[in-house]
Amino acid sequence: MLTPEPLPFPSSQPPRAARLLDTPLQSFLRGCHATFLADENGAVADYIPELGKVDPDPFGIAVATVDGFVYEVGDTGIPFTIQSISKAMVFAFALDLLGPETVEAAIGVEPSGEAFNSIRLLPDNRPFNAMVNSGAIACCSLIANAEGEGAFDVIHAMLNRYAGRTLEVDEAVFQSERATGDRNRAIAYLLRNHGGIKGDVDHLLDTYFRQCSILVTARDLAVMGASLANHGVNPITGETVASNYAVARTLAVMSSSGMYDFAGEWIYRVGLPAKSGVGGGILAALPSQLGFGTFSPRLDTHGNSVRGIRTCEAVSEAFDLHMLSRWNDVRSCVLADYDFRAVPPQPGRETRQQRILEARSNAIRVLELAGKLSFATMDYVSRRLADPAGLPDFLILNLHRVSTITDAAMRLFIDMLKGQIPPTTTVVVAGVDSASPVAPRIRALKDEGLRVRIYPTYDAAVEWAEDQVVYRYGALSQPAVEVELKHQPLLAGFAPQELEDFVGLGAKTAYPAGVRLVAADQPSDRVYFLLKGMVSTRTASGTRIGTLIPGMSFGEMALLEEPSVADVWSESEVSCLEVTREQFHAFQEAHPRAAGRITHNLARLLAGRMRMATARIGLLTG
Ligand code: GLN
Repeated sequence: MLTPEPLPFPSSQPPRAARLLDTPLQSFLRGCHATFLADENGAVADYIPELGKVDPDPFGIAVATVDGFVYEVGDTGIPFTIQSISKAMVFAFALDLLGPETVEAAIGVEPSGEAFNSIRLLPDNRPFNAMVNSGAIACCSLIANAEGEGAFDVIHAMLNRYAGRTLEVDEAVFQSERATGDRNRAIAYLLRNHGGIKGDVDHLLDTYFRQCSILVTARDLAVMGASLANHGVNPITGETVASNYAVARTLAVMSSSGMYDFAGEWIYRVGLPAKSGVGGGILAALPSQLGFGTFSPRLDTHGNSVRGIRTCEAVSEAFDLHMLSRWNDVRSCVLADYDFRAVPPQPGRETRQQRILEARSNAIRVLELAGKLSFATMDYVSRRLADPAGLPDFLILNLHRVSTITDAAMRLFIDMLKGQIPPTTTVVVAGVDSASPVAPRIRALKDEGLRVRIYPTYDAAVEWAEDQVVYRYGALSQPAVEVELKHQPLLAGFAPQELEDFVGLGAKTAYPAGVRLVAADQPSDRVYFLLKGMVSTRTASGTRIGTLIPGMSFGEMALLEEPSVADVWSESEVSCLEVTREQFHAFQEAHPRAAGRITHNLARLLAGRMRMATARIGLLTG
């Protein structure tokens, strides 16, 4: 109900001994691993001497889904330095920390088409983008300006949140790069010369080199990628790691520039926003679906992992994961669209109410919606409701199976309520519990005077809508006419004289709406015959049990000297005939036969209510 439900499947990899069947994707990844393991092309990066020492052979593939499952094949637990992959998350972090204006003023978003360590800048002396070293160093400088000495710690903590665990730093790689990183120093001095960065260059580069020396695994990269794919929410920890805005912009720059001078080829062939690092890792993210993490240290001439590229190409091609090849059909969001001609009224309705509901079966229309309500699906829903002839008195939108509502969909929904749905139709939103973030937004619309209501369950929504139909077409359609007493089930079988004498006993009373006429568990001395208006029966805590309309009685328990089982409230102005127990006893003396009828009728009435209660329990528990 608008909050992702935890899946029964384990969210992290089970112990290797656990016997789980291979899903098709698991088998496919296993096949990729076996095939590409044989590819020993490329060479480990050795411009950082310590990196030159790493074992070139490990190969790991991990895929994390946005519902929090991680597939792992091969060496997915071996740590390696994150290197340039950190640039993506650090850019997103800077956008959130400092705001887009500050970041965009300092760093461009143009693809450079050049190697990661290119020294070239844009004509206005900004780095091309944050995925190449110059932009990443500028980004690091922005964070250092804001965070001072603590800059590395906040970057480290941020990456920990993406991975969902505490990551270590490879001190040896850090020292090695620090000792040999003159090209990065040159870039930093050039930036400082143009005013692009401030402060001590060595100090700043320590933060940058340390950021690159954070140790991750292929599994970590997959989870980080899934956090980006999952609009900034780590699907395993549930923690929000970045805003939607920052994630979308970061994925944009990754798409155009994440793979250095191979970026154009990559986005054309593989079609996934991605970022690689000279440590041998590749992170890729397919929005709303999954994150990839691969690790294999042998790099091609662009500095991208050879086996990693081949794996991503193979998976993307096999399953058509190219981000610009999408197949969603908006129509699948409407599971059902019906009125009540095909549906019997909720069990527990008294016969007269049932007849009203059957006669007005087109007064309630239900749309059962499912999945994600986005711009396109909500537009489709609004077009289904564009024909005024199809708009009933009550339109129930059952969102029980809806997982998310995007801001765009919410906006269309609000505009639909304000501009499209006429005031003769009340929209009843069902299946939204009060903890959902959508609930206050819908309640606010109600406060603005729009005809919209919200119920946690479909049954509660239907019950309310049915009550309204009964009230509108049963009670309100003849507000001036009082129902004659001979139609009261309690007085069925009375002879005309008996009826006349009985009416003569009681007092006719009128009440405004909103009065409690009978209180649960309180002794009462009278029975009420409803002549006009509508009353509801409720539990002492206020839950509505049912609706009574003219021709029905309540408070009959008083005749048995028993307290009422429910509260009875007037829902409109009502008029009743009230007969006290004493009056009834006097009547009994004079008309023993008729009094016997009442006892008989009362037993039938109570049996009928028992049947309704049983039906309702069946409805709730079945
Ligand atoms: N630390 C490396 C550098 O700045 C990162 C480069 C990379 O992974 N492409 O040279």
